Amino acid sequence: MKNVITKFGGSSLADAGQIKKAVDIVLSSEDRRYIVVSAFGKRNAEDEKMTDLFIDYYNTKDDIEKNEAIKNIIIDRYEEAVKELSIDYDVKSELEEIFSLSAKMNTVDYTASRGEYLSAKIISSYLKAEFLDMQKIIIFNDNKKLDYELTYKNIKEAIESIEERKGKIRIVMPGFYGSFRDGKIVTFSRGGSDITGSLIARALNSDIYENWTDVSGVMFVDPRIAKEAKPIEYITYSELRELSYMGASVLHEETVYPVSKVGIPIHIMNTNNPKDAGTMIVSSIPSIAKRKAVTGIAGKKGFSSILLQKALMNEEIGYLAKLLNIFDKEGISVEHCPTGIDTISIVLRSEFLDGKKEKIVDEIKKTLNPDILSIEEGISLIAVVGEGMSHHKELLMKIFEILAKENIQVKMIDQGSSGINVIIGISDNDFEKGLKALSLLQYEE
Ligand code: ASP
Repeated sequence: MKNVITKFGGSSLADAGQIKKAVDIVLSSEDRRYIVVSAFGKRNAEDEKMTDLFIDYYNTKDDIEKNEAIKNIIIDRYEEAVKELSIDYDVKSELEEIFSLSAKMNTVDYTASRGEYLSAKIISSYLKAEFLDMQKIIIFNDNKKLDYELTYKNIKEAIESIEERKGKIRIVMPGFYGSFRDGKIVTFSRGGSDITGSLIARALNSDIYENWTDVSGVMFVDPRIAKEAKPIEYITYSELRELSYMGASVLHEETVYPVSKVGIPIHIMNTNNPKDAGTMIVSSIPSIAKRKAVTGIAGKKGFSSILLQKALMNEEIGYLAKLLNIFDKEGISVEHCPTGIDTISIVLRSEFLDGKKEKIVDEIKKTLNPDILSIEEGISLIAVVGEGMSHHKELLMKIFEILAKENIQVKMIDQGSSGINVIIGISDNDFEKGLKALSLLQYEE
């Protein structure tokens, strides 16, 4: 029997119909005994996530009318789900208790966590499985940083103790929250149920961490921009990190850390199409899989490039250090720094220049005395990511060819030192067109 963590995101649990699909998936394999759940998600584009409703409830404490209205929406949604699932669970009384405790709390965390708590209660009841609260198991230090070792130990002990008493039964656990050592509830940042699944997988040394969502895996490129984007079959943890950093949103970014350390694969799958292959996130691509030139592409708008040019810059020792020091002093992080013999560009998020542009320009002029100093705004960065790229010598040519065909000017190129990505800077106006055109790279063998 395999040890599998099965985690369902909010869209997989948006209403009774979705819950039934998730439960069918669980029941279709005896290996799926450890289930982690998010709060109910949106049922459609206009709907609200349960977590948002709970947060709004907490934040409208002083507005009785609004507060009551939100409370009723929450109660109705849960009562409807419980009724449709025909389970024996007095969700209304549970909610009344939650609302009265919420009023006494001085942080939002307790209230925000109740979506996951109730999902786990409802699903464990429907599955006739054990409910295991994560409140006193996932432990945060006073600075809100997770105590990983203690958390792993607690998870292992709690599950072993259930299994000693009841045998290998199914256990349903709420994602998204734990507590300080004193038991006071703390939530992860939004989307954090993914982290809970990863912590449990690591603690139990699982064979696989299944993460069920509403897409059939990590897409080669954002399908809202390039409709023809296909799911990626295999992606390494490092490739995923590069893509996520450039805007591909799949998992909470802290998810990978616990499992990547011990090489537990994460399998992203679609609750609405469970037969789809999904994406396997692994430490290295297995030899059976065909290694493509490019694994995926992601990009972001809204960067600026500050260009400095100075004759014989290369002979001035410490020039770059002095330049970076100016940004450091302003608390601005620099994204890229392509250099030439007598030129340096600093590429950074445009928002970091808001209200500081003049000060920085003055400081650069004063300290570094460049012959030319110019700022170009409205730059998009696109990351072409793939561990296999070093074996595909013609890749850069292909990228330029594709962009040239679309009449897109490349403003910057940076081959990351990790060797698994190439970053291309183009105008914000060309962003969608560029990303769409580059999606052709998914067919490159
Ligand atoms: N329910 C939380 C959120 O909406 C956590 C999660 O779903 O992962 O952010």
